[in-house]
Amino acid sequence: MTELIWNEGMSVGIDAIDEDHKLIIAILAKLTSAKHGETSKQTINAIFTELEHYVSLHFAREEALLEQICYADITAHKASHQNFIEQLPLLKQEWLTEDCLACSEKITTFLHQWIVNHILVEDLDYVSSVYKLSNSADKKKDVNQSKPSVIAIISTVLSQKVKLSKRVFITTLLPVLGVVFLSFIILLDNYKGYKNVSLVLGLNDVIAKVNDISHSLQAERGIASGLTSSRYQNFNEQLSARRLITDQAITNFLALLASELAPSVQENIRFYSADVHSELRELAKHRKQLDNKTANFSETYQAYTHLIEHLLSVSENLTHVEMASELANDISAISAVLLFKEYMGQIRAIGMNVLVAEQKDMHSNFNLSLLLGKQLNALRVFHYSANSEQKDLCSDYCDAQIHRQILEQRFLHVMNDHSVEQRSKYWFDLMSADVDRLKILTNDLTASFKKKVQLESQRLERNYYGILALISFFLVIATLFSLVLNHSIINPIRHITHALNNMAQGHRNIQFKESLGSDEIGAMQLAYEKLRRKLLQVDIFQAIVNRQKNEIEYRKSQQAHFETLAFTDALTGAVNRHQFNKVLADEITRADYEQLPLSIMLLDIDHFKLVNDNFGHGVGDEVLIMFYRACKAAVRASDVVARIGGEEFVIILPKTNKKSAYQFAERLRENIEQLEVIVDEHTIDLTVSIGVSQWRKNSFSSAEEFVANADKLLYQAKNSGRNRVVV
Ligand code: GH3
Ligand code: MG
Ligand code: MG
Repeated sequence: MTELIWNEGMSVGIDAIDEDHKLIIAILAKLTSAKHGETSKQTINAIFTELEHYVSLHFAREEALLEQICYADITAHKASHQNFIEQLPLLKQEWLTEDCLACSEKITTFLHQWIVNHILVEDLDYVSSVYKLSNSADKKKDVNQSKPSVIAIISTVLSQKVKLSKRVFITTLLPVLGVVFLSFIILLDNYKGYKNVSLVLGLNDVIAKVNDISHSLQAERGIASGLTSSRYQNFNEQLSARRLITDQAITNFLALLASELAPSVQENIRFYSADVHSELRELAKHRKQLDNKTANFSETYQAYTHLIEHLLSVSENLTHVEMASELANDISAISAVLLFKEYMGQIRAIGMNVLVAEQKDMHSNFNLSLLLGKQLNALRVFHYSANSEQKDLCSDYCDAQIHRQILEQRFLHVMNDHSVEQRSKYWFDLMSADVDRLKILTNDLTASFKKKVQLESQRLERNYYGILALISFFLVIATLFSLVLNHSIINPIRHITHALNNMAQGHRNIQFKESLGSDEIGAMQLAYEKLRRKLLQVDIFQAIVNRQKNEIEYRKSQQAHFETLAFTDALTGAVNRHQFNKVLADEITRADYEQLPLSIMLLDIDHFKLVNDNFGHGVGDEVLIMFYRACKAAVRASDVVARIGGEEFVIILPKTNKKSAYQFAERLRENIEQLEVIVDEHTIDLTVSIGVSQWRKNSFSSAEEFVANADKLLYQAKNSGRNRVVV
C-alpha cells in the first residue's frame, strides 16, 4: 500500500486547519508503513490512539470555526465528524483481531479515502464562508487604507443579486431606453412645433380674411366720414356700393369662423369670434343711424375705427403661440404694416374733416399729427422685425420721411388747389389709391408668410418621420446587438458550466467541437478542453491500472484454486492420496520427535459396487460426498481425512493411541450405519469396515508398511462379515 502525501492543492487556506490535516496524513503514513507480521500490536495500538487524539482536536477546532461563521451545514458536518470518531475504535479492533494483510490494506484504504473526502469535499465547502467573514472583518479594520473602487463594489453587489444574462440585457437596454426617452422628448417638441405651425397657418388665413373686411370697412369709414363732414353728394352712392362689398367680406369671414377653421384655431380665437358678432351688430346699428342722418362725423369715425381695431386685434392671438423667433418677427412685421395701413385709413377719414375746416397744414390738427406719429412707430416696428423679403416687398412705403413729405404735399395740394366742396372727394381718391396699394402689399405679405409657414410645417413633418426612422433603426440594431451579445457570452458560459458540472460528476463526454473563438470565452472553452483531456487521460490510466490489478488478483485466485486442486480430491474435497502421503510422513516425523502416539484408520464402504449398480454412478458420487462429510464432521480439527481410492478413505489421528482410535472408529462406524442416506427418494443403507493401526517406530520400517498394516486389518474386517472395526 502506497502512503498518501500532502499536496498543496489540498490547502483550505486556513493555516491551523492545514497543519491539522498534514499531521493526520503523517499519522496515516505510519499506519501505511506498518508491515504486516513485523509491526507489533502495541505499535498499531499506539498509532490508532494518536490518530484518535489528533482527529478529536482537529474536529473541535473546526467545529468552533464553523460556529463562529454560522455555517449553514454545520449539523451535517458535525454528524460526519461524530460518525468517524465512532468508527475509529472499531477499525482498530478489526486490525488487531483479524491481523491479516488484506484487512490492514482495507483499513488504510478506507482512512485515505476518508481524509481526502474530508478535505476536498467537506472542508473546502465551508472555506468560502470563512473568507467572506474574514474579508468583511478586514474591510472594517482597514477602512481608511484601501477602499475598493466604486465599479468593483457595484460589480460585486450586482453579481450577487442579478444574473449575468439579466445584467447584459439591462446594459443593452439602458442606452435603448435613453435614446427612446430622448427621441420622445424631441418628437414631443417637434409635434408641439408642428401643432403651433398649423395654428399659425390657420390664424394666418383668419388674418387674411380680416384684412379683406378691415380694408372694406376702412373704405366704408372714409366714405361715411366724407358724407358726414362734406357736402359732396356722390358719397351716398359710393357708400351703398361699398356696403355691399363689406357685407360680402363679412359673410365670407363669418363662414370661415363657423366651419372651415381647424379646432385648435377655433379654440384660440373663441373669445375674439364672440366679440366679432356683437361688434357687427353695432355696425348694423350705426349704419341705420347714418341712413337716418342722426350720426355726426365724430360718432361715425369712432364707430368704424373701434370696429376695425377690434377686427385687426386678431393678430394679437398669434403672439400667444410659441414659435420660432423668425416667424414671430414676420408676424410682427405684418401686424405693423396692417397698423400702418389702418392709420392711413384713419388719416383718410379725418383728413376729409380737417380739409373742410381750412387748416394751414396737417400738423395744425392734433389727431392727424398723432396719426402721423403712430405711422412712424409702425414703420419702426416693421423695420425692426421684417425679414429681407418683406422689406423688399415694402420698399415703396417704408421710408417714413418720404411718406410724410408726400402726405404733407398732398394735403397742401388738395387744400390750395380745390374748392371746399371738391376737397373731400380729391383727398379721398388720392388716399384710397394708397390704401388700396397697401392692401395689395398686405396680401403679398400674408401670402409669403403662409408659404414660409407651410415650408416650416413640411420641414417639421420630415423631421418627425426622420426621427421615427432613426429610432426604429437604432432599436433594431440594439436588439440585434443584444441578441448577439447574449449568444456570444451567456450561451457559451451556460454550456461551459453545464460541461464542468457534468465533468464534476465523472463524465468526460462533453466536447466543444465548434471552432473556438479567440476571445475570453474561447480561452475559457480551450481551458475546459485541456482539463477534460487531462482528466480523461487520468481516467484511462486509472482504468488500465485497475484492469491490471483485477487481472493479477484473478491470476492469484486461479493459482490458489489450482493449488487446492493439487492437494485435494476433486469430487469430495478430501485430502488426496499424494498429499496424504506427505502429511502422513510429516506426522510420523513429528510423532517420533515429540514421542506422541499416532494412529490411522483405513475405511472402505461395504458393497459400494451395489450402490452404483442399483442407482447409477451419479448417485454413487453423491453417496461418496455424504460419506466424506460425515467423516469430516466426526473428526477433530487436527485430524486429516484423505481419499486414497474409489471408496477407500484414511483418517490420520495425531496424538491418538490405538485404544482411543478404536473407540473413535467404533463411534464413526455406528454413525455411518445410522446415517440416513436418501438419494432420489431411495433410502440407501450404508455401512463401513475399518482397519485401525497405531504407529510403532520399531515395527514399521516405512509409512507404506504402516498403511499396509491398516489395510490388512481392514481386509480382516471385510472377511469377518463387514460393518466392523479391526484393531
Ligand atoms: P466390498 O464390500 O468387498 O468392499 O465390496 P465393494 O463392492 O465395495 O468393493 P469393490 O472393490 O468390488 O467395488 C468397488 C466399487 O467402487 C467399484 C467401482 O465401480 C466403485 N467406484 C470406485 N471409485 C468410484 C467413484 O469415484 N465413483 C463411483 N460412483 N463409484 C466408484
Ligand atoms: Mg474397495
Ligand atoms: Mg467396498
